[in-house]
Amino acid sequence: MYRTHNCGELRMEHLGTEVVLSGWVQGSRDLGFMMYTDLRDRYGLTQLLFNEQITDKDLFEQARTLGREFVIRVEGTVIERQSKNPNMPTGDIEIQVSKLEILNASKVPPMLIEDEIDEGDDIRMKYRYLDLRRKPVQQNLFFRSKLAIATRAYLADQDFIEVETPVLIKSTPEGARDFVVPSRMNKGQFYALPQSPQTFKQILMVAGFDKYFQIVKCFRDEDLRADRQPEFTQIDCEMSFVTQEQVLETFEGLTRHLFKKLKNVDLPKFPRMTYDEAMSKYGSDKPDIRFGMEFVELGKEELPEGFVVFDNAELVVGICAEGQAAEYSNKDIKKLTEWMQRPQIGAKGLVYVKYNADGSVKSSVGKFYNDEVLKGWLEKFGAKPGDMLLILSGEEEKTRKQLNELRLEMGNRMGLRNPEEFKPLWVVDFPLLEWDEESERFHAMHHPFTSPKAHDVERMLNGDHETMKALRADAYDMVINGVEIGGGSIRIHDRELQSRNFDLLGFTKEEAQAQFGFLLGAFEYGAPPHGGLAFGFDRLCAVMCGQNSIRDFIAFPKNNQGRDMMIEAPSPIHDEQLEELCLKINLPEGD
Ligand code: ASP
Repeated sequence: MYRTHNCGELRMEHLGTEVVLSGWVQGSRDLGFMMYTDLRDRYGLTQLLFNEQITDKDLFEQARTLGREFVIRVEGTVIERQSKNPNMPTGDIEIQVSKLEILNASKVPPMLIEDEIDEGDDIRMKYRYLDLRRKPVQQNLFFRSKLAIATRAYLADQDFIEVETPVLIKSTPEGARDFVVPSRMNKGQFYALPQSPQTFKQILMVAGFDKYFQIVKCFRDEDLRADRQPEFTQIDCEMSFVTQEQVLETFEGLTRHLFKKLKNVDLPKFPRMTYDEAMSKYGSDKPDIRFGMEFVELGKEELPEGFVVFDNAELVVGICAEGQAAEYSNKDIKKLTEWMQRPQIGAKGLVYVKYNADGSVKSSVGKFYNDEVLKGWLEKFGAKPGDMLLILSGEEEKTRKQLNELRLEMGNRMGLRNPEEFKPLWVVDFPLLEWDEESERFHAMHHPFTSPKAHDVERMLNGDHETMKALRADAYDMVINGVEIGGGSIRIHDRELQSRNFDLLGFTKEEAQAQFGFLLGAFEYGAPPHGGLAFGFDRLCAVMCGQNSIRDFIAFPKNNQGRDMMIEAPSPIHDEQLEELCLKINLPEGD
C-alpha cells in the first residue's frame, strides 16, 4: 500500500497512529543528528522526522540522499511536534519515520515549487508539469473544475441538454481568422476549427432541443494578449421561444448561483446599460462600474473661444479624480501625460484643472480660461476642493477610448478596483452593424446571425445606407469588473431577413449559399425564434478569482506566439505527410 493518509490530513487526534505516506520531497533541513523533510502531495505538506538516535543508521544515511522532488514512500508514527507551526494545517504533528522507500529520484528541478516564484513564463511553460505542482496553479485548476461541475449541475437542473458539436467544421465567422485542417481524403480541401459552435447550436434549436449548452473549446487565430488564447473554453448556450429578457434572466441566475456556490458572494441584481450610455459615460462597451469617475463633456457654452485645441475639437471630455489635486506635482502630471501619449493610447495631450483644498484653482489651460470659466467646469464635474479634473479633446470616438484608458489607470492608482468586489452589469442594445471606413463595408458588430430589434426589422429590409448605421440589435454582453464575461443575442430565424443581413455584410448570394446554405436551408423547415449567449469560461474563472490573466486557469496554455513550449507545437511535419495532404510546395531548384 502506498498510503494510509494523504499529506494534508494528519492532526493531533492521530497521535500514535502508524501511517504510510507517499509524496514529493519539498525540501529537507539536516541538523546533523536529526533531519526534517517536508513531504508534499495535492492535499498539503506533512513534516517527516528522521532521528538518528532512534532509527537505524542506514535509514538516516538513506534519508540524506533525498533531493528536492524525489518521490518517496514512508512508514512511521504520528508524534507531537516540539515546535508547532500554526500556519500549517498539519503543523501540530510530524511523522517519526521508521521506513523509507525511494519510489523515484528527481533531477534538480530548474525552478522552485513554491507559491511565489520569479521564474519567467518560458521556464514555467516548458516545465509546466513542475509549475503545475505549485499550489496557486493547482488551486486555480481545482476552482475551474468546480466551476464547470456547478455550471453543468445548474443548467441540467433547468432542463438544458449538453450536446457535443463537431470540431472539424466549416468557418463560423466570429470576427477572427480560422485555424484550418487539411483533409487527406478530400484533396485540396480544408476543415476549419470552430470559432464557436454558433451555427450548430442554432441548428439544434431548429431540431427542437429547446435548451442547449456545452462547455466547449473554441479556436481563434488572432494576436494574443494576457486574456486571450488561441484555444479557449466557452459555456455556450442557446434557448428557443425566448425573449431577450428571458435569456438575461436565465444567465443572470446562473452567474448569481455560481458566485454564491463558489465564492459565497451574493451578487446584486445586474443593472442594464445601453451600449450608447456605456460609450458616453465610460468610453467602453465593458465599463468597470466598481467606481464612478464618469465622463463629463464640456460644450460650447462652457468653452469660450481662445484655446485652439479645444476650439477645434469634436469633443472635449474629462473625468474628476477625487482628492488627487495634492497628489500630482507638475512632474507627475508630465509623466501621466507621457503615459497617455504612448502609441498604445495616442493622446495628443492632457489638460488638468486642480481644485486646491484652499479653494484656489490651477490649470494647464489657465492662460486661456479665467477662474470663473474654470470654476464653471468644476461645478459641472461636481468637483470638491482637493479634486482634480483630467480633460482630453479631439475626434469623438478616439477621445472617448483614450479617456477610458485614463479612467481605468486612475482607478488602479487610486485603489478603486478591488478584485474582491464584484460589479456585474448587462450592456444591451448594441448596434447591429459597424461601418468599416477602410474596407468600406459593414461588419456585424456581434455576428451575422444576430437579430435587429423588432422595431428595426422594417428599416433593415428597406432602409438606406445611413439607416443601417442606426439599427440596433437584440444583442447583449455580460460585464463584470470591466471584463466582458459573455455575450449573445436573439437570432434571426427568418430566411429572408438572414439573407438580407448577408447582403448587407457584402456576401453575394452565391457566397452566402456556399458558406451558410445549410443554415438558410434549415430556416425553411420551421425554425423557432431562438437566442442565447456564450460565456468565456477561462475569463469567468479569472475574474471570479480576482486575477488578470486567464493563463493560469488553463492547464496547458500557449505563449504569446501561440506556442506550446512544453510539447513544442506548432512544429514542422514530414515531407511524406505534406505530400499526402497535397501541401507540398515544390520550390524551383536552387531555392
Ligand atoms: N457565438 C457567440 C460568441 O462566441 C456567442 C453567442 O452569440 O451565443 O461570442
